[in-house]
Amino acid sequence: MFIVQVALPIPIHRLFTYIYPKDIQPVIGGRVKVPFGNRKMIGIIVSLYDNNNSNIQEKRLKTIEEILDKESLFDQSLWNILKWASDYYHSPLGEVLNHAIPTLLRQGKLISKHSKLLWQITKKGICINIENLKNAPKQQQALNLLRKKSLFFNDINQYNITNQVMKSLCIKGLCTLKEYNLPTQNWCNNLTIQHEKPILNKEQITAIESIRKEDKHYVAWLLAGITSSGKTEVYLQILENILIRSQQALILVPEIGLTIQIINAFRKRFNVPIDLLHSSLNNNERLSVWLRAKRGESAIVIGTRSALFTPLARLGIIIIDEEHDNSYKQQEGWKYQARDLAVFRACQENIPIVLGSATPALETLHNVIKGKYRQLSLMKRVGNAKLVLQQVIDLKGLALIGGLSQVLIKKIQSHLYAKNQVLLFLNRRGFSPLVLCHDCSWIAECHNCQRRFTLHQCKNQIICHYCNNTKSIHNGCPNCNSKNLIPVGVGTEQIEQKLNKLFPNIKIIRIDQDTTRKKNALGKYIAKINNGEPCILIGTQMITKGHHFPDVTLVSLLNVDGALFSSDFRATERFAQLYIQVAGRAGRAEKQGEVLLQTHYPNHPLLKILLNRGYFSFAEKTLMERKSVLLPPWTNHAIFRAEYFDNIKVIQLLQKLRNLLENNSLNDKLIWFMGPSPCLQPKINKRWRWNLLIQHPSRKKLQELINKSLPSINIIPETRKVKLTIDIDPTEI
Ligand code: ADP
Ligand code: ZN
Ligand code: ZN
Repeated sequence: MFIVQVALPIPIHRLFTYIYPKDIQPVIGGRVKVPFGNRKMIGIIVSLYDNNNSNIQEKRLKTIEEILDKESLFDQSLWNILKWASDYYHSPLGEVLNHAIPTLLRQGKLISKHSKLLWQITKKGICINIENLKNAPKQQQALNLLRKKSLFFNDINQYNITNQVMKSLCIKGLCTLKEYNLPTQNWCNNLTIQHEKPILNKEQITAIESIRKEDKHYVAWLLAGITSSGKTEVYLQILENILIRSQQALILVPEIGLTIQIINAFRKRFNVPIDLLHSSLNNNERLSVWLRAKRGESAIVIGTRSALFTPLARLGIIIIDEEHDNSYKQQEGWKYQARDLAVFRACQENIPIVLGSATPALETLHNVIKGKYRQLSLMKRVGNAKLVLQQVIDLKGLALIGGLSQVLIKKIQSHLYAKNQVLLFLNRRGFSPLVLCHDCSWIAECHNCQRRFTLHQCKNQIICHYCNNTKSIHNGCPNCNSKNLIPVGVGTEQIEQKLNKLFPNIKIIRIDQDTTRKKNALGKYIAKINNGEPCILIGTQMITKGHHFPDVTLVSLLNVDGALFSSDFRATERFAQLYIQVAGRAGRAEKQGEVLLQTHYPNHPLLKILLNRGYFSFAEKTLMERKSVLLPPWTNHAIFRAEYFDNIKVIQLLQKLRNLLENNSLNDKLIWFMGPSPCLQPKINKRWRWNLLIQHPSRKKLQELINKSLPSINIIPETRKVKLTIDIDPTEI
């Protein structure tokens, strides 16, 4: 008998002690079913308890009910990462471990052995005279079959033989049931690499050679390549040696739906099993990918953020595409940064990691400056793709049709006339962000969030984009029943409508959350665009990432002024990344691309540097500015967020928290507190939301302070009601 500590998937920062009822050594990292209160829970064994420890009163301990795993679900490096991450992000280990495994395993599903049962003939079965069985024709038939080949347990039905027949043969000693271990699919031996490849340019060659030279140990590479500089080709070629060594690759992407082209490129190049992990897989599919990766059967696993926790038998490289993308940061529950954890994993496994982007995160560039990452640059577009022409349209005083200026409309016409495609970007879905009643001046506002409803005209609904609160406006104004509702402002739905009027013979394709909800919808739109006919694409953030649309020559950002004046200091970085990514959709093939930016602030310094000197100059300048005012990445942030229905309680809790943290850091001159202050969106779904921000130049000191204070924080009375969460290295303030 042993005593073990078990991590349970509940938001409590402690482990639970149980009696392990068997004499075999418990499996650390394996699942067990335990009684907890009056329920049963699935937990994971984290450690053995020293039996001689006198603090333990064995009589009061409960006993584990079921042992679910014979081996750990995690390899050593994943185990180390998850334990470290639980400490670093102050998330309970049980929740962290639970997050890292497929849903079916969380629910306690047993991992079936990679084997099948097989009916096999015995010596007696071979020697016996088959005529002896003439009174049992079915048995005779089965024995005849078995003399030719063994039969899988599950296959006998197809020969019209029942289990009962087989059992009878078995009792007579004529056959036995054996477990047959299925061979693991071995892709390594017949690996072929498609030899049709583009002729690389100098920068690509340098990048590939540098990474190849050191691809057997840990190096963190930043592959900084402008859009259309052929980063994917670099990924493909550095993968060759990894696969030839029969190692596996893990590739993280922001969103699978948006990376169909990358995936196709991998499929075309290598005849190896490629597995995708994304949100539209069902639980069974997810588990089977997990198992295949763990057994070494998948060669390449491509997935979003949480795919980072896939166990891989022979991991040889990690690639993070569009590493700047905010989707790598989990914003709910356990708020981890997958990019940082991926670097940690590569380091643990002593393998290379490549972070690719046209617009690297400032954190990443800072790591290059510090010498932690090594940068490789691709600053030329491949083939004949030329740099795009950029132009700013000063919106001041201009008449707009559905948010489009005359200059822009003329440009659209001329690009369509030349048989090219046009892409318009607007980060606002719906018909209009505001709707009011012409007769009684009623304004549609969501009381749960104190935010304006967005009008979705095609559904005759107003929807709150913060809490999804939805109301019908079939009967007109809810206040006076007038049908005279006036939309104010422009969203993608309205632009689509205006474009249909302006260009009646042209296909208009709208891509946003509303039009792509159905499975494969996005894929269909992309196929339509790639057939090359002139069309206008209007879309939100979804269209900005990774696509290669060879026939798009004109790109326009319709309204981005909000980003220039946001109170989040990261808004400008995000805007710069967005601008470069959207602009990068123009002229990716042979044709000259053009970008038009509509703004009321054409002389804004951010726009000037970005348009005239490019992202890397912008990044350098912004990094210097942040250094001078001591903002991340030059310093470190942690945010305590409190949310509750009662505004006063929220503020009280954070004020007490601040006093406590201040008391615990009296002699530390470098610590700085901000708040309690309301979040950018101060109320969502009736809950008030406030932040307390802590800043310290030393990550270690910041962590020490939080660790020291947590026990007293957890007993502040308000925490029993108010939801309190910690966000370490937050990306949103
Ligand atoms: P990025 O990811 O840097 O934006 P991609 O890797 O998608 O760019 O490359 C854009 C296109 O250029 C792809 O169709 C790719 O096959 C092609 N390509 C890559 N390298 C070269 C090259 N050296 N010469 C010509 N075409 C190339
Ligand atoms: Zn009204
Ligand atoms: Zn709402």
